[in-house]
Amino acid sequence: MRKVLLGVVLVLIASCKQHSEVSESDKVQSKDEVIVYQEYTGVEPTKPEETEWYEPVPPTVAPYGQNGAPSDAIVLFDGSNFDEWMMENDSTEVSWHLNDDGSMTVKDTVGDIRTKQNFGDVQLHLEWRSPADINGEGQSRANSGVFLQGIYEVQVLDNNNNDTYVNGQVASIYKQHVPLAKASVPSGEWNTYDIVYHAPEFNDEGGKIKSAVITVIHNGVLVQDHVEIKGTTPYEGWPKNPPHGKGPLRLQDHGDNSRVSYRNIWIREL
Ligand code: MG
Repeated sequence: MRKVLLGVVLVLIASCKQHSEVSESDKVQSKDEVIVYQEYTGVEPTKPEETEWYEPVPPTVAPYGQNGAPSDAIVLFDGSNFDEWMMENDSTEVSWHLNDDGSMTVKDTVGDIRTKQNFGDVQLHLEWRSPADINGEGQSRANSGVFLQGIYEVQVLDNNNNDTYVNGQVASIYKQHVPLAKASVPSGEWNTYDIVYHAPEFNDEGGKIKSAVITVIHNGVLVQDHVEIKGTTPYEGWPKNPPHGKGPLRLQDHGDNSRVSYRNIWIREL
């Protein structure tokens, strides 16, 4: 009987050991999966100057070098003209309203506008304002949008006391990513968007090998944290990702009297 008991115990121990060899904690700690920085292997330096670099020297950028825009930015709109823009539908001169206060306002039903220049990876700054005198509700209250490369929309909407589907609310990546917070200022005041965007990459056959990635800061609040853009951002249907190269920045005329205004638009190519 003792021998039988001993046998059972040994089988149990063996079984536990076998189980522990494939446990999740072992997997996480396995040598193959930890991060090893090759530059920090070998003999560890003992003098401070051995870990201090003097190149490459980054370029100097004056943060407010161009009336508030960084000195190396492309100023797309400073309030004085539409020189950097054209109508999206027929490439003619922009017919949106150019205002005396250095802003522009969507002209209803004339169509979107786009930049003449095309861009890939960028840092983008712009400011937008929904009207103080409110009309419409849901998606029809001051709806506009900022389209990266002409096809990926960061939503502009007056969401103040105005609920809608959350993946279409202000600062959403339209119908793909809900923002992390609602960070709008009161209607009638100026919002800021600061965006870091990395374009998708495609192989020679047109297959996507790397998705676009975007980070959005709305009035200083992180609302999109390095999220993957899965494709276009249509009102109906799934995102699509046909291959493309550089594309323009596009601003939306939603066609329902949005009266959204924009100002101070600049971009830095990354
Ligand atoms: Mg929109």
